[in-house]
Amino acid sequence: MSGDGDGLETDDGGESVTVAHGAGSGETRRFLEERVVPRFGANGDDDGEADAPAVGLGALDDGAVHEVGDRSLVVTTDSHVVSPLSFPGGDIGRLAVAGTVNDLAVMGATDPLALTCSLVVEEGTSVELLDSVLDSMQAACEEVGCRITAGDTKVMGSGEVDGVVVNTTGVGVVPQGGHVTDAGLSPGDKLVVSGPLGDHGITLLTAREGFDIVGDLESDVAPVGDLVAAALDAGEVTAMKDPTRGGFATAINEMVRKADVGATLDETAIPVREPVASAGELLGIDPLDVANEGKVVFGVAPDDAEAVVEALRATPSGQAAAIIGEVTDENRGRVVLDTGFGRRYLSEPEGRQLPRIC
Ligand code: MG
Repeated sequence: MSGDGDGLETDDGGESVTVAHGAGSGETRRFLEERVVPRFGANGDDDGEADAPAVGLGALDDGAVHEVGDRSLVVTTDSHVVSPLSFPGGDIGRLAVAGTVNDLAVMGATDPLALTCSLVVEEGTSVELLDSVLDSMQAACEEVGCRITAGDTKVMGSGEVDGVVVNTTGVGVVPQGGHVTDAGLSPGDKLVVSGPLGDHGITLLTAREGFDIVGDLESDVAPVGDLVAAALDAGEVTAMKDPTRGGFATAINEMVRKADVGATLDETAIPVREPVASAGELLGIDPLDVANEGKVVFGVAPDDAEAVVEALRATPSGQAAAIIGEVTDENRGRVVLDTGFGRRYLSEPEGRQLPRIC
């Protein structure tokens, strides 16, 4: 796309989009910063625009925040293209609901108002499969306590789209100023994760490779509203993000870069389930580089970190919550991983290794 030479050429010699542009880390960010944000990125009080959102596209956060009267409307949207459509622990329907309500939750809107759903279906898809996807969406909505209140269905010809694409948009309401961005870290804050990392991405990739170890693996796809609500009740959360596409490594790098701080992490404190670690080794993929669909990374004021972890551990999906490091004034824009034997930078995964993960 840009001058970085990673685009493919089109027939007329122009650059074309590659899978890497949708992989969620460096190339996706460059694509957004060069093509999308300059057109639509008004944010906060930018340019003195009175109607600019409190958090807009330019923030590249999990959702937008619009002030309406004395409350704030949180909005987010996501298209789900996962392959295979059904996987250990979930399917595209559960993913499409959890993915969107989780982006609302990590903006502070833990009790979503409503979702919309846009389905794009390939001709020839079995109605039974479509029913099972819709059943999953219905069950996930019931779990969260929200409804789908608007939608759209399009059918494409055979081969024009692969199976089913599900887009969901979510809206939630918080008191004005009650939202939390992913950019609020300060030196001294503790970094907390809500549970073991890498489950979704490693499970998907293992299932695709057809290894029989998949029996020990399960996606973590689940709504995180309860986790976030517990953390917000227990202490001062300064920043949060769900480490989805691009994994924990991408999420934490984004958080330190936006806040212009550094971070030091204790690798031995980062929870990764044993089957996920072994499958990652077999695949040659770091569990910290792949999507999670039911986890949250928190920045927490230092005095509140223990209370937040305790509150997370009291929830069903937060039992392995842990303090994994802290925010520093040094190494700005960088994440330092202390392995116990030495130190290295934890950088974002680059390239095209993980298409269609969520
Ligand atoms: Mg997100």
